[in-house]
Amino acid sequence: MESADFLVIGAGIVGCSVAYHLAKRRAGTVVVLEQGEIGRGATADAAGGIRLQFSTEVNIRLSLLSFEYWENFDRLFGVDIGLHQHGYLFLLTRPDDVEAFRSSLALQQSLGVPARWVDPDEIAALQPAVRTDDLLGGTFCPRDGWCDPYSATMGFAAAARRLGVTFHEHRPAVGFEIAGGRLRAVRTPDGPIACGTAILCTGPYTGEVGKRAGLDLPILPYRRMSFVTDRFDLVPKTVPMTIEFETSLYFHPEGDGFLFGMANPDEPPGFDKTVDAEWMQRTVEALCRRAPVFEQARIRRGWAGFYEITPDDNPLIGWIEDVEGLAVAAGFSGHGFMHGPAVGRCLAELLLDGESRSVDISAFAPSRFRRGQLIQERNVI
Ligand SMILES: Cc1cc2nc3c(=O)[nH]c(=O)nc-3n(C[C@H](O)[C@H](O)[C@H](O)COP(=O)(O)OP(=O)(O)OC[C@H]3O[C@@H](n4cnc5c(N)ncnc54)[C@H](O)[C@@H]3O)c2cc1C
Repeated sequence: MESADFLVIGAGIVGCSVAYHLAKRRAGTVVVLEQGEIGRGATADAAGGIRLQFSTEVNIRLSLLSFEYWENFDRLFGVDIGLHQHGYLFLLTRPDDVEAFRSSLALQQSLGVPARWVDPDEIAALQPAVRTDDLLGGTFCPRDGWCDPYSATMGFAAAARRLGVTFHEHRPAVGFEIAGGRLRAVRTPDGPIACGTAILCTGPYTGEVGKRAGLDLPILPYRRMSFVTDRFDLVPKTVPMTIEFETSLYFHPEGDGFLFGMANPDEPPGFDKTVDAEWMQRTVEALCRRAPVFEQARIRRGWAGFYEITPDDNPLIGWIEDVEGLAVAAGFSGHGFMHGPAVGRCLAELLLDGESRSVDISAFAPSRFRRGQLIQERNVI
């Protein structure tokens, strides 16, 4: 029977980063199973946003560590990820959000994040396209930005390969052989692979994959759509990623146009990947309300992908209590791309050393749901 010391299931940004960091630590044989192709899951559908502006310390620390990779990617991996650090600008319209963002800002600043409060005049200077008459203020972090998720994932995958990791594309994990509470092997259509440890990095599919091991992991897929305009020169390409927090509308420059999207709060979970024309219309209306100049833009294309949402909008990272030898890193609730680098490093530390020293990720232990110790992230888009 084939075997591996570590079997990573799923080759998105998270699986590739986990595999890379395990191999870098010379953890033994590392094999990655991918049901499709590397980097073509949720990661390929991401807007590529990377930010330090979170409301919980652990997420800010995961961002700070990930930024060490994002800002040095070319030097570390020899890959240009098209990093743009034009900042993230949050626009606030509700008094409760002002209070919450001011408190998160204090936490961010205490950890060295260069974010600041901005009043409507400064917002207008940073982002001339938006209406500011109804704004109570906002927050801005110039170090935030965006980059290309596919090149970043391929960068991790190539580096992992150079360190000896084997990737099997078009080879799904279809079942788990568990005996005496311990994982023995992972089944695939080409035969089982015996493993010391398997790690579920299966993004939005993790709830479904977990069921095959008899688990009830609280990760649900929710459709999110993104749209890109045709070439659009009426707004400078230097403006920040702009988020109207109340509606979750966001937009940022992308190539010669702009990328934008907005979450539909009434959408039930599911795996429908079609573009909803009605929601596209609502999103365009929201964009034109906030930034009327976009009435002159034309949509080039749109696509749908899945957020992988948990009850507290935070991931499950660590050992799964019920099955010895099985771990998970999934459920990033829409911010998994940006945390991919740090999560790979921290999970490798947890699996190999018994704890993650780079960032304490114990708050994200999968068992927290059973214990009722949820850790809510407020800055979710
Ligand atoms: C529209 C949109 C915009 C987003 N914008 C951002 C953003 O700006 N910033 C950000 O940080 N995040 C963003 N996200 C979220 C981000 O895409 C995810 O959090 C992140 O990509 C999760 O990475 P992953 O590796 O866990 O999952 P994935 O990339 O989905 O990787 C999981 C992999 O597992 C594979 N797989 C599944 N089941 C099996 C199986 N049984 N066997 C083998 N392989 C399997 C899948 O094929 C897939 O390749 C966005 C998401 C969407 C949909």
